[in-house]
Amino acid sequence: MPEGDTIRTAANRVGGALVGREIESIETPHPRFGKDGWAEKLAGRKVRAVDAHGKHLLIRFEGGLTIHSHLRMTGAWGVYPRGKRWHRGPHSAWLVIRTPEHDVVQFKGPVLELMPDGRTRSDPRIAQLGPDVLADTFDDAAFLRRVRIDDPTRTLGDALLDQRIVAGIGNIWKAEGCFRAAIDPWRRLRDVSDEEALSIIHAVRPPMFESVANGFPKSESLLIYGRAGTPCPRCQTKIRARGQGDDNRTTYWCPGCQR
Ligand SMILES: [Zn+2]
Repeated sequence: MPEGDTIRTAANRVGGALVGREIESIETPHPRFGKDGWAEKLAGRKVRAVDAHGKHLLIRFEGGLTIHSHLRMTGAWGVYPRGKRWHRGPHSAWLVIRTPEHDVVQFKGPVLELMPDGRTRSDPRIAQLGPDVLADTFDDAAFLRRVRIDDPTRTLGDALLDQRIVAGIGNIWKAEGCFRAAIDPWRRLRDVSDEEALSIIHAVRPPMFESVANGFPKSESLLIYGRAGTPCPRCQTKIRARGQGDDNRTTYWCPGCQR
């Protein structure tokens, strides 16, 4: 599943290809968009900006219209020089924006909609997002407020995936952040101090920024994610994995050194 850093990287690439460029065509090949008329509505408008908010990507056109995308588990963005082969088949392309130099393609991202700018501020899926983990300065106070109004019996690992508490952390960085901060993701929120909760965020930001700059890390450079049954790199205890929270997302942790 794409995490905030992956979407930030995609926004940088999509923005590089689209902002201020001549748009030759906009197509929505998937039948569900059949009569929506995006090409007509967006004709002649340039892209002013491409933003990432948590895992949401927003392509902002002149004249107050924005394409909102969320990839969930299945989607991907691709940016290709014109004439280059795409990494997924054209049948899975749901949005294709062409400039003289590039094809910008969204593949199978379940949330894909055209909306007025105003709605991007009022839409609860965006308006209710917690502070962005990749903000230049992370809003510690807003994060802690959101942690403290949540169910105090909720487990920490589950809460960190809730985009209303902090936007942009997915399952991989949740596990890596708890490990780097040496905090057990199974602790209940009521048993986690403010300092401990913040230490996870501040442990996970540097590798996420590194990922935006240089690409998502290869699986072998992750410290704990995907390593169940192997020795912990810090204390050699065997790493464990188990589904957590309502969505049963697998969490990885070391019972030896994460307290
Ligand atoms: Zn350990």
